[in-house]
Amino acid sequence: MTTSSSKPSKTQAVPSLATLAVHGGRDSHETGEPVGSPIYQSVNFVQEVGTGAGMRYPRYGNNPNAEIVQKRLALLEGAEAGLVLASGQGATACALLALLRSGDHLLASSWIYGGSHDFVSKELPGMGIQCTLVDPTESRGWRKHLRKNTRAIFVESPVNPTCRVLDLKPITALAKELGLALVVDSTFATPIAFRPLEHGADVVIHSATKFLNGHHDVIAGAVLGTSTYIEEVRRKMTVWGQAPDPFSCWLLERGLKTLDVRVKRATDNTMRLALWCATRPELAAVLYPGLPDHPDHETALATLDGFGAMMAIVHRDGGDAMTKVIRRLELITHAPSLGGLDTLVSEPRFSSHEHLSLDERTKLGVPDGFLRISVGIEDPDDIIADLDQALRG
Ligand SMILES: *Cc1c(COP(=O)(O)O)cnc(C)c1O
Repeated sequence: MTTSSSKPSKTQAVPSLATLAVHGGRDSHETGEPVGSPIYQSVNFVQEVGTGAGMRYPRYGNNPNAEIVQKRLALLEGAEAGLVLASGQGATACALLALLRSGDHLLASSWIYGGSHDFVSKELPGMGIQCTLVDPTESRGWRKHLRKNTRAIFVESPVNPTCRVLDLKPITALAKELGLALVVDSTFATPIAFRPLEHGADVVIHSATKFLNGHHDVIAGAVLGTSTYIEEVRRKMTVWGQAPDPFSCWLLERGLKTLDVRVKRATDNTMRLALWCATRPELAAVLYPGLPDHPDHETALATLDGFGAMMAIVHRDGGDAMTKVIRRLELITHAPSLGGLDTLVSEPRFSSHEHLSLDERTKLGVPDGFLRISVGIEDPDDIIADLDQALRG
C-alpha cells in the first residue's frame, strides 16, 4: 500500500517543500549569523526620523519573527504573500472580512470547523453580510444558492471530523466563471499534501495551531494570497488586534522546519492504523481517505499528495462503549485539537458537535461511538498496541 512518502506529486511541481520548510524566507549565510532565528522580543523598534515608512510594530504583523514565517508559508503554498495571525479563528475572520462588505453574500460549505460556522452564520449577518450554507456534495448546490450579491465561496477540505475530501474542480470553475473569490481552509491537508492555489483557489487559510506548528504549544493562524489582498487582511488584523506575538512566531518557525517529515511519518502511521482498524470486529466504520472504501478515495488519490494524518472510527456498540475504550487508553491521549506529534483522540459529541442532537449529528456522519483520531509520530506498533488493548477491554 503506497502512502504519501512514495507517491509522486499530483500537483504542479513545487521546488522541494522539505527544503523550503527548513530555510524559506531566511537564506542569509553571513559569517557570524545565528543559524536559529533570534527571538525579537521587542514591541518597539527604532524609527527613522522624518518618515513613517518602514515603521515596525508587532500589531501590524511586521515583527521580524512574524515576517520570517510569513515568507516561509507563502513559499510553501506558492502564494505571493502571507500573513500570520494570533489564531486560526483570527485568520478565518480577517480573511473573510477583507473580502466582504455590508450587503455582500457568502456561500460557505456546511462542512466547516465549528468556529468558522459560528463566524459565518452568527457574526457576519450582524454586519450586514448574508451567508448561505451549502452541502458540498449536492450537485449544482453552489449554483442553486447563488445571489446577485454573492462575492465569495468558503470551503474546508479535508473536512473535520469526517475526513471527507472535496473535489475543488467544479467549485473553482464556478468561482472563475462568476469572478468569486474562493477561500479554502486547508488546515487538515498542509501544503505537503495539497496546495489549493495551484488548484484555482484564491485564498488559503490555516490554523497553524495544528500541523504547521505541530508541537501542541502554539496558537496561530495564517492567510495566504495575492500581495494586494494580504495587505487588506493585514489592515483587518491590525484594527481588530489579531496579530501574533514574537515567541509564537518563533516557535511556529521552529515547528515548520520538520513539517515535511512530521506529516509524512504521521501519514504513514495513519495508513497503518486505518488498515489495522479495518480488521477489528468492534468497529462499525473506519473513515480514512486512504482506504479504498472511503467515499472520496478517488478524489483524494487524484488530488492529494498523501492521505493525511486524520482518521475516525465508529464503535459498533455506540457512545458508551467508545467512552470506555477512551478511558482504557494509556499512550493515546484524550484531548481536543489535532495535528501534533502526540496521537490525540476526541469524541465530537463532547466537543465540536456538542450543540447538535443525535439525529443532526448522525446525518452529518458523526453518530454516537464516533472517535476522531489525530495520529502522531510515535512508533505505529505502539499506537496500534494501545488501541488494541483498549478495544479488547
Ligand atoms: C482548529 C481549526 C480552526 C481554528 O483554529 P484555532 O487555531 O483553534 O483558532 C479552523 N479550521 C480548522 C479546520 C481547524 O481544525
